[in-house]
Amino acid sequence: MQTLKTNSQITGKPTRLGIISALAEEQEGLIQAMQHAERHVHGMREYTVGNLWKVDTVAVLSRIGKVAAAMTATTLVERFGVTHILFTGVAGSADANVRVGDVVIAESLVQHDMDASPLFPRFDVPLTGLSHLPSDLGLSSRLAGAASTFLDSENGATLHRGLIGSGDQFINDGMRLAALKSALPGLLAVEMEGAAVAQVCFELGIPFAVIRTISDNANEDAATDFMAFVKTVASRYAFGIIEKFCRNHAA
Ligand code: SAH
Repeated sequence: MQTLKTNSQITGKPTRLGIISALAEEQEGLIQAMQHAERHVHGMREYTVGNLWKVDTVAVLSRIGKVAAAMTATTLVERFGVTHILFTGVAGSADANVRVGDVVIAESLVQHDMDASPLFPRFDVPLTGLSHLPSDLGLSSRLAGAASTFLDSENGATLHRGLIGSGDQFINDGMRLAALKSALPGLLAVEMEGAAVAQVCFELGIPFAVIRTISDNANEDAATDFMAFVKTVASRYAFGIIEKFCRNHAA
């Protein structure tokens, strides 16, 4: 069976990595670590183009939610010519085995608030025939390699790979989470951007990966846990993992 080639395989373009986070705390340190950094403002966002540990990179904050993330991913590809995209950020846990401080890498992503039933099955992105949008296996595996090396030095944190759900809601309600989990077995984490980036990358033929550090349990304590976590842990994790990823890539 013939497999579809990605854009950069077809054009033979050298790698240019797009790195998206929703919030400044999720990406802190990376911009400062960039060499030859140049800032470009477009569509109310700041895109920083430069070298991260020898990898040609464009880093940007998307802001929160699916539309914001889709707009940012599209711009990275169409205007800044990125060939690969990584999303790094935090998420709520959707599984008892996934704890605050653990890391989840998406195997696939679903827009958990997409529901055009009965015209299309619940969760299907209409007219694509897909509900679970797969991430790029090669990129995700390299990211997982970097994450597990990083986590070896973090006491007790575990790396998980599986389904991430995205929707335009901050989930802080155990009942709502349980309902989602029963409709989407295998759901490991909930957030607000990943599956939108997945749809854009799927449609534009761009390999992508999504990595999320768990900041809260998507229950009634989520807002308080989230606020404490993003300030203290999120950027340290993102920085440590992306550094290892880029160094391995450039080696
Ligand atoms: N109060 C924050 C808003 C954060 S929204 C502020 O003012 O900045 C939560 C962000 O973290 C989103 O980008 C989302 O992707 C992720 N996230 C973390 N925990 C989440 C949860 N329980 N439900 C949904 N998204 C969550």
